[in-house]
Amino acid sequence: MGISVGQGPGGAGFSPVLAATGANSPYQGNRDPLLRGPLIKLPVGSIRPEGWLRTQLELMAGGFTGHLAELSKFCKFQGNARVDPSGEGSAGWEEVPYWLKGYVDLGYVLKDQRVIAESLRWIEKVLATQREDGYFGPRGNLTAAGPRNARMIDLWPNMIMMFPLRTYYEATGDRRAIDLMTRYFRWQAAIPPDQLLPASWQKIRGGDNLDSIYWLYDRTGEKWLLDLAARNHDRTADWTNAVASWHGVNFAQCFREPAQYYQQTRDSKFLRATERNYDAAMRQYGQVPGGMFGADENARPGYAGPRQAAETCSMVEFMHSDEMLARITGDPVWLDRAEDVAFNSLPAAMTPDLKGLHYLTAPNQVQLDRSSKAPMVQNDGDMFSYNPYQYRCCQHNVAFGWPYYAESLWMATPEGGLAATLYAPSKVTAKVAGGATVQIAEETGYPFTGDVRFSFAAASPVRFPLVLRTPGWSGTPSLTVNGKSVAVSASGRGWLTVDRQWRSGDRVTIHFPMKIVVARWEANRDSVSVQRGPLTYSLKIGENWKAYATEGWPAYEVYPTSAWNYGLIVDASRPEASIRIGKETKQVAGQPFAQATAPIELKMKARRIPAWKQEANGMVGELPQSPAASSDPVEEITLIPMGCARLRISAFPVVPR
Ligand SMILES: [Zn+2]
Repeated sequence: MGISVGQGPGGAGFSPVLAATGANSPYQGNRDPLLRGPLIKLPVGSIRPEGWLRTQLELMAGGFTGHLAELSKFCKFQGNARVDPSGEGSAGWEEVPYWLKGYVDLGYVLKDQRVIAESLRWIEKVLATQREDGYFGPRGNLTAAGPRNARMIDLWPNMIMMFPLRTYYEATGDRRAIDLMTRYFRWQAAIPPDQLLPASWQKIRGGDNLDSIYWLYDRTGEKWLLDLAARNHDRTADWTNAVASWHGVNFAQCFREPAQYYQQTRDSKFLRATERNYDAAMRQYGQVPGGMFGADENARPGYAGPRQAAETCSMVEFMHSDEMLARITGDPVWLDRAEDVAFNSLPAAMTPDLKGLHYLTAPNQVQLDRSSKAPMVQNDGDMFSYNPYQYRCCQHNVAFGWPYYAESLWMATPEGGLAATLYAPSKVTAKVAGGATVQIAEETGYPFTGDVRFSFAAASPVRFPLVLRTPGWSGTPSLTVNGKSVAVSASGRGWLTVDRQWRSGDRVTIHFPMKIVVARWEANRDSVSVQRGPLTYSLKIGENWKAYATEGWPAYEVYPTSAWNYGLIVDASRPEASIRIGKETKQVAGQPFAQATAPIELKMKARRIPAWKQEANGMVGELPQSPAASSDPVEEITLIPMGCARLRISAFPVVPR
């Protein structure tokens, strides 16, 4: 564990991992005996996303997420078991809670009155479903189909529903949410141990229940909740000694469970188990760009190349796990990982207007048609085309990806400071040590540029530590405070702390140098990827969007209109010398994650590899071993950020000069 070193007013200390020092934050962190974390989530509404991130959320509100009540048969209010006072009716499983988990946050992050009003309509009714004994929600989940045709209590749908209730409480302070959760967990505590989390998703994903038990304990201090937490851990699938499931979403969601439990036990073996889980998945199935691992539906031995895909649910769950683990550990590597998925993988899961989504996104994916790609991907049927009516779990669950991301841009530190944890244009209004309210505006073209500018506003001067994350790819950043350069000796991943008295009009700038680098994936036939800062770059492939639905919202297949089978010519000793910036827009578009608005393009030399073709089912062919044979002419190709590329080659073979 590193130590955050404030070098007195005006200085900047560096630490590789943020430690939990002090207890001066006005915000509720972990309560004793839970381990005090080094970062505390700010209440929803504290952070106003701006720029491209705000546009993502606005597009969501106008897109399928904001209109799921019209598009999804599961989100019909009338007759819905989630809102029926006696919990009877249809659609009582995961879909509505998945949607509300994002939709409620979307409303409060954007302060969008239409979304908030519709959210409250659901929340009010959900609050009214609680029984005398504490159970709430659809009654059918009490007698779900379990193993060997036995009936079981299925807690999974309510695990998800806890999250929008928590957000609702943060936004409104309505005690009814706390009371409902307290009575509900009391009911859970009375379930006979062998009937708690007996099987199925709930057993594998018990970490979600655990997070809400701790959340409630931090707010009420009722000690019996910690007993329930311990039992919840014991009854959750064992993620401590092994990877409990190779299902993509299960893994993305619950590899973190041991690290969550570490907060209660303080035994570092649990923390190490989560790190070991992550490393195991990424070593075997994540030797590709984009921050995900191939699991299309499950990760399968022998299917680990860049054409294997990740489910949209896995992306948003992985991001949430990263955000949670950063709060628990203070290790900025989790935030680098969240950015990797958010910038490079998630945007391509949806159309640029966020009016359609698909189930599976891969680093190499050159045609998005409706035909089945099984058995090359595990899941049979249409998984690649964009459609707002399909893909059941992802269609609802993707809603929380960007809102939770926006809520994690800034976090409070226990000593009463504020940390810039994920970089994006935003404005944070928060309390610091002593209770004074400060406002910090963050202007940046990040992740397309490495320049970030902060300006401060406060009623009167106030001293607090400003903590800035330095990403792992960054060289030594340059930092200025009010135009004066501040010495920064360290480089690479960590945290910079500037502890001084801040006053209105103060300005801080930080510049993270972004070098072009070539990553080599030995495990995947010595393929390479081009990276610059947090972004990976993909081949720019001509896109032909073909609408195929005739009624309602359009659905699309996307076909390539230009060659995609290129191998790169890279100078092994100085790879960056073979790549140049071809175009760079200073003004990042509202929706930069589209081919037409890509803020930056790279140029480099390549040759086509004639033997590398599409499969009969339209899937991209297996990546050839590098160096790959090609005597085709040398051409100059254009690369765009991976998140801008719906059709993409992101892991390339290398060809001779
Ligand atoms: Zn899904």
